Amino acid sequence: MDYKKILDEIYLEAKVYKGQGELARYIPELALVDPLKYGIHLSTVAGEDYSLGDSKERFSIQSISKVLSLAQVLPLLGETLWERIDVEPSGNPFNSIVQLEYENGIPRNPFLNAGALVMADILISRFDDPMESFLSFVRELSGNSTIEYDKKVAASEIATGYLNASLINMMKSYGNILNDVDKVLEFYCHQCSIAMSCEDLAHAFMAFADEGCLYKSDSRVLKKSQVKRINALMQTCGFYDEAGEFSYRVGLPGKSGVGGGIVAVHPKCYSIAVWSPKLNPKGNSVLGMKTLELLTTKTGTSIF
Ligand code: GLU
Repeated sequence: MDYKKILDEIYLEAKVYKGQGELARYIPELALVDPLKYGIHLSTVAGEDYSLGDSKERFSIQSISKVLSLAQVLPLLGETLWERIDVEPSGNPFNSIVQLEYENGIPRNPFLNAGALVMADILISRFDDPMESFLSFVRELSGNSTIEYDKKVAASEIATGYLNASLINMMKSYGNILNDVDKVLEFYCHQCSIAMSCEDLAHAFMAFADEGCLYKSDSRVLKKSQVKRINALMQTCGFYDEAGEFSYRVGLPGKSGVGGGIVAVHPKCYSIAVWSPKLNPKGNSVLGMKTLELLTTKTGTSIF
């Protein structure tokens, strides 16, 4: 497959969508990002790398971090994790509180804010320094020891995170949050603030493309059966109330974030990260979705 030629073509074709969409202004620090940034990085299981545009520039990964926290939490708790979080698509926005009351404080899936907040609570209970331990895990997955939290983005989200605080409080009232509300919010906002490039993300997500193995290494961080489950959740729940649309148009397991990043994997083939900060009304990058749709169409590499 000539990925270079195909990605060059896509980069030119997709550029016309650069103007569409809006920045995630509800986190004030994200409203300051240059809206015209556009980067792509594709890594193959065979160890080839293809980079375009702003692919080496770091941005706030936001909800993409939820896949990484699931990868840390699932091996710790195994199937008992699903006593506290369900594995069903929600059909609701990422920050919705409505369903949570009907379902007695059990989030529909780990990629909703509520689900990720429960995983944050679990990591706080498990580690003396959960922030350090999560960061080390992300550095290990991506093979980049310089990855850091973006303290400004974290502070900006903590200061305005009233809805996330409500989700934590509601789940605490149902006994599904064990730690202090402020501590959970602080950890969660830091996790979302992590700054990574498309290259870092494509390398980190190789663990999901390559059956749990790290990029260009024989070390295994996840069992095959865990990867199967994480990929299934990305496929069904990675894009909130647009999971069906992403499956229909792109046809790969993937995860978006309101920082404008989208990561997707083709198991045993490649991982790809795209970044373009302008979002559609569902909170997913307009150009990111378009880029991935063109990729699977031109290469014929959807999983379906
Ligand atoms: N930190 C963001 C929030 O809680 C994540 C949302 C997203 O990226 O979809 O609203």
